[in-house]
Amino acid sequence: MALNRTSATFTPYRFDLNIYRGCEHKCQYCYAVYSHKYLEDADFFDNIYYKDGVVEALDRQLSTKPLQGKLIGIGTVCDSYQPLEKQLGLTRKCLEVIANHKNPIYISTKSPLIERDVDILNQLSCQVPVSISVSITTLNEKLAKKLEPNVVSPKRRFETLKFLKESTKALVGVHLMPVIPFLTDDDENLEGIIKLAQEYHLDHVIMDPLNLYGETKKHFFTFIKQNFPQLEQDFKALYSSSRSLNAYRMQLRHKLAKIKEKYGLKNKYIADFLPKTVKAKQISFFD
Ligand code: SF4
Repeated sequence: MALNRTSATFTPYRFDLNIYRGCEHKCQYCYAVYSHKYLEDADFFDNIYYKDGVVEALDRQLSTKPLQGKLIGIGTVCDSYQPLEKQLGLTRKCLEVIANHKNPIYISTKSPLIERDVDILNQLSCQVPVSISVSITTLNEKLAKKLEPNVVSPKRRFETLKFLKESTKALVGVHLMPVIPFLTDDDENLEGIIKLAQEYHLDHVIMDPLNLYGETKKHFFTFIKQNFPQLEQDFKALYSSSRSLNAYRMQLRHKLAKIKEKYGLKNKYIADFLPKTVKAKQISFFD
């Protein structure tokens, strides 16, 4: 099967397409590292798998009635535009299938490789709702290189956003995710990202603070110990209970709401463009 039904209730899509397992981008906070344990492989960042026959399977699934017109989340676990995609072109082939079936889509990536597919994205966005988000966590180039060693600079990611906004009818915006306590949650950074989003006439900035579970927590804490030892205790205290994390989340939400208000940024969210039956079921992201 190409598409999986997702159990998450906070996203606007109920079906997702994840072509790759593992991700060469190597973000130190990656929430998806857990997914390799089902493959009995510990090397999430170096051993990349892909779904064999995914294009044909997708075509078969989209030909069935229950999936007609349904919104599809693409690359919601592992990035669909990571370097291997350049060789294999599976994401492009899947987009061609989706364009034939005219399903609305919701894509998130960190890679400028998505620009390659602008022809299909534009064609589809003229017919059905399309949402494209690029993840940007910080404008600090040095910090970005530490946190996301195999991803292009934040500046380059903004260029991708600008290009897609100007070249398609899609809703285009920033996934300010994750906001990392003590490292990227300062006013200057958050305001800088929102200001640029407004300058480029982007449609949304959707945020979520860093969540740490299982393998991700272990990996991230090791990274902090090696690179920011002075913050180790702060992180441990904050992530010791859901109470402290919820308090942090509320503070951040308040801060971001004020910044967005200052720049007049109101999210145009894909759920606004979907039929009422879909909207009723979704709860919007933390913004
Ligand atoms: S781009 Fe996404 S999936 Fe890839 S390593 Fe970074 S957070 Fe993980």
